[in-house]
Amino acid sequence: MGNSESRRKASSQRRGQIRLKAAVLQPDSPMPAFVADVMLGRLAKWLRIAGFDVLYSNRFSDDELVALSRREGRILLSRDTRLLVRKAVQRFIFLESESIQSQLRQVFEAAGITGLPGALTRCISCNDVLTEIGRERVRGRVPPFVFATQQSFKCCPMCGKVYWAGTHRQSVMRMLDKILK
Ligand SMILES: [Zn+2]
Repeated sequence: MGNSESRRKASSQRRGQIRLKAAVLQPDSPMPAFVADVMLGRLAKWLRIAGFDVLYSNRFSDDELVALSRREGRILLSRDTRLLVRKAVQRFIFLESESIQSQLRQVFEAAGITGLPGALTRCISCNDVLTEIGRERVRGRVPPFVFATQQSFKCCPMCGKVYWAGTHRQSVMRMLDKILK
C-alpha cells in the first residue's frame, strides 16, 4: 500500500469518526458564540457580519482553539480532521465545503440559528460590538458623500473604524436572508 493511499485512508477514517461525534452538538442558545480555525477567516467575517461573536486569529494554535472552545463554551469551526478527532473537542462544526454560502448554511442549520437580530452590530475585523457615534464626530473620517447622505453612524471601540448603512449593507443582508431560508 502506497503512502498516499494510506494517508487517504487515514483521512477518510477521521472523517467517519468526526461524523459520529458531530451529533453531540446541541444548540443551546439563539446567539451561540464560535471560535474558527485559521482556514476559516472568510466564514468568521461573515458570521461577525451576521452578528455572532467569533474569535479568529491566524496565530491560534490547535491547543488554544480547543481551550477557547471549552473554557468559553464556543462552538469550534474547523476544516481540520486531525484537530476534530481529538477527544477534548466536543462542540464543533466540521466544514467540508469550501463555498462560503454552503458553510454559512451549514453553521446556521447545525447551531439552530433561525434569525439574525444582531446583524451588522459587530466590527468585521475586531469582533467588538459597535457603539453609536455622533454625526459631527465622523466628519472627515468618512467620504463627503457618505457624510452628506447618512444620518447615523457606528464605530468600533477597538479599531475606530466607522460603519454606516448603505447599499453594500442591503446586498449583504439579502445574501444572509437567502441563506437562512
Ligand atoms: Zn474594529
